Amino acid sequence: MVIIRGATTIASDTKEEIQKAVRELLEQIESRNDLKRDEMVSLVFSSTSDIHSHYPAKAAREAGFESCSLFSAQEPDIEGGLPLCIRTMVFVEKNLTPRHVYLRGAKVLRKDIAGKVNIAIDGPAGSGKSTIAKRLAKDYGILYLDTGAMYRACALKALREHVELTDEAQICDLMRSLDLSVQYTDGVQHTILDGGDVSEEIREPQVSMAASTVSKHKSVRLKMVEKQREIASKMSCVLDGRDIGTFVLPEADFKFFLTASPEVRAKRRYDELVAKGHDVDFEELKQGIIARDRQDMNREFAPLKQADDAVLVDTSSMTIEEVVARVKSLMQEKI
Ligand code: C5P
Repeated sequence: MVIIRGATTIASDTKEEIQKAVRELLEQIESRNDLKRDEMVSLVFSSTSDIHSHYPAKAAREAGFESCSLFSAQEPDIEGGLPLCIRTMVFVEKNLTPRHVYLRGAKVLRKDIAGKVNIAIDGPAGSGKSTIAKRLAKDYGILYLDTGAMYRACALKALREHVELTDEAQICDLMRSLDLSVQYTDGVQHTILDGGDVSEEIREPQVSMAASTVSKHKSVRLKMVEKQREIASKMSCVLDGRDIGTFVLPEADFKFFLTASPEVRAKRRYDELVAKGHDVDFEELKQGIIARDRQDMNREFAPLKQADDAVLVDTSSMTIEEVVARVKSLMQEKI
């Protein structure tokens, strides 16, 4: 008796997705191992705890694998585990060297058996980058690096020291003594400037435009990019920013460019700020976002730009769940 292992992921928990994925997985196991149906004695499935819509064993029967005994079980919820995943063990009455089959990212995105994966998410302010990046990082159990926070910290330093933001020489000087690091507590990024946690302070509206102005300078960018590349070279991570796909990691495994109408982006920021107790004028905020994007797009060095090989996702009329599902299914298609 030989056992062949297999695994696949589904984009969403629907009966159709489960049926399609199970059929595809079993057919691939069959063809890659040159099996005949009656050589498959038994199929055992497990599915992650976020799958409820259908039994994989039933999907196998519906796909025509009815001559063998079938069993499915649900796995417990494992922190950081790959979500929406169906695994199988196929017991085979044949003498062969098994060829295990992993489809739709079931191997690539498993950090225990896969190599390093870098996901680049770029786009203008308020396009949903950080929300989506955080979700992907959580679901795939990899690191989230918010590169905007690093430029914001540079801007905060310049504001604290009353350095003229547009003066490249002075800013360059300031960068020499910059004491900036990112640290993680329970997967949440903390931005540490001169020994203090500035994660909240850098979100203040006045820091946003200052970050855009400071990040125009090549010396600032090169220093930040060096840190970003160092982190990305060591571990699987999802990075969001403006130039990740074009400049920081042109070889990233997956690249997305999120966008949305200025109206929608401004509304998202407005809601965020109001929820934090800020008193904001919507129109002023919208004009600020438009001005910041214009400055980011038109700077000379590493501007905000969609990489040629990045997939564009317009999130204007999509919910967070819809964007997450779309991005994950695009990743699965690419694998
Ligand atoms: O993403 P966030 O709004 O926090 O970014 C603040 C500013 O930092 C942006 O407007 C942009 O000017 C700059 N930035 C950048 N490159 C990145 C990330 C952010 O120039 N990779």
